[in-house]
Amino acid sequence: MDSFALFEKHINPGLAGLLRFTGLDRVESHAEGVYVWDTTGKRYLDFLGLYGTLNLGHRHPKVVEAVKRQLDRMPMSVRVLVSEPTARLAARLSEVTPEGLEMVFFGNSGAEAVEAAFKLARIYTGKPEILTTEGGFHGKTMGALSLTPKPEYQDPVRPLVPGVKAVPYGDARALEEAITPRTAAVIVEPIQGEGGIRVPPEGYLREVRRITRERGVLMIADEVQTGLGRTGRLWGVDWEAVAPDLLTSAKALGGGVMPIGAVVGRREVFEVFKKNPLVHSSTFGGNPLACAAALAALEVTLEENLPERALRMGNRLIEGLKALAQAYPDLIQEVRGRGLMVGLEFVDADVGALCVAELAERGVLTAFGLNNPKVVRLEPPLIVEEDHIDQALQALEGALEATRKAIEGILG
Ligand code: PLP
Repeated sequence: MDSFALFEKHINPGLAGLLRFTGLDRVESHAEGVYVWDTTGKRYLDFLGLYGTLNLGHRHPKVVEAVKRQLDRMPMSVRVLVSEPTARLAARLSEVTPEGLEMVFFGNSGAEAVEAAFKLARIYTGKPEILTTEGGFHGKTMGALSLTPKPEYQDPVRPLVPGVKAVPYGDARALEEAITPRTAAVIVEPIQGEGGIRVPPEGYLREVRRITRERGVLMIADEVQTGLGRTGRLWGVDWEAVAPDLLTSAKALGGGVMPIGAVVGRREVFEVFKKNPLVHSSTFGGNPLACAAALAALEVTLEENLPERALRMGNRLIEGLKALAQAYPDLIQEVRGRGLMVGLEFVDADVGALCVAELAERGVLTAFGLNNPKVVRLEPPLIVEEDHIDQALQALEGALEATRKAIEGILG
């Protein structure tokens, strides 16, 4: 049996069906930079980048080298001794995150970073309620899922963690009105990723910061997807010069080689660990191998000025997409995004899915947003070149043309 059949039989038949529908009933073989090859030898431009994880592309040599070195030295920490790469990464994160964020808790994923922030907010404030935003996505473990207001994911597992309320995204006034004396924190993405690449109105993050500060509520910026240069600045909150109380990071933090998650926060909030050092912990969180990858990833991101590059390449991509949107108004409703976090909103989710399939056929990988299937995300590595953008746009033009023909065929 080939690996796709094994996946279908033993892992997730539903997802296998979806992949087949988008023409991706294939098995990956190897990858390098912006390219991935399947086992038939077909090459794809990776314009999904593992949902915003592969900022440095696949197998960035400096990250691979750092991981190999650590692998030969000590991949896992014994935990009762302090690990050097872990301590160094915490110090480095405190240097590169907004002012006042000095302390770090490490997990292995975005959801774990969010769980840690959720718990820290409750313990520190002694209050139970958290505000989240409609369309927000913060992960699928029970705590993180409780902050992800999507009925398809929440309803099958109710009851959720209590005390969570969702307010409209981008509406600072609605958020202010929802704060009660029992509110511990507000969690917000600087740009909603899975919600369909939704960029909030200018000044929103600043307003959220002002309101939360005035009302004595913690602000958690979920930078799992927006972080590390994706939007054209190192952090999404940098666009409005906002320093949250807690900032979550994961995805690109491991340089596309290792999984790692982190919550970086104000020293005062982390005082909870002084009273109870093991109030939250993780066996693998912040393991030396992942931290070595993250240290190298941060170095490459800053040395190669990737946030600036993301902005430049993103502008080229968005401009090209807008031209295509004008030529295909019957298929594309809107193009939006910032840097290389770009969304293409189709008139309908099925039209988007058809186009994703046509794009895959033409050797470009994309996918739709988990919370908003009408929106196809384009999140290529930040190392992408002009040529790759132009190739992807050309493939998209062909895919749109084929999608239009297919629909005309169906509608007769
Ligand atoms: N937070 C945000 C903003 C995300 O986009 C995601 C994943 O897409 C998560 C949290 C969850 O991350 P993970 O899938 O690593 O648990």
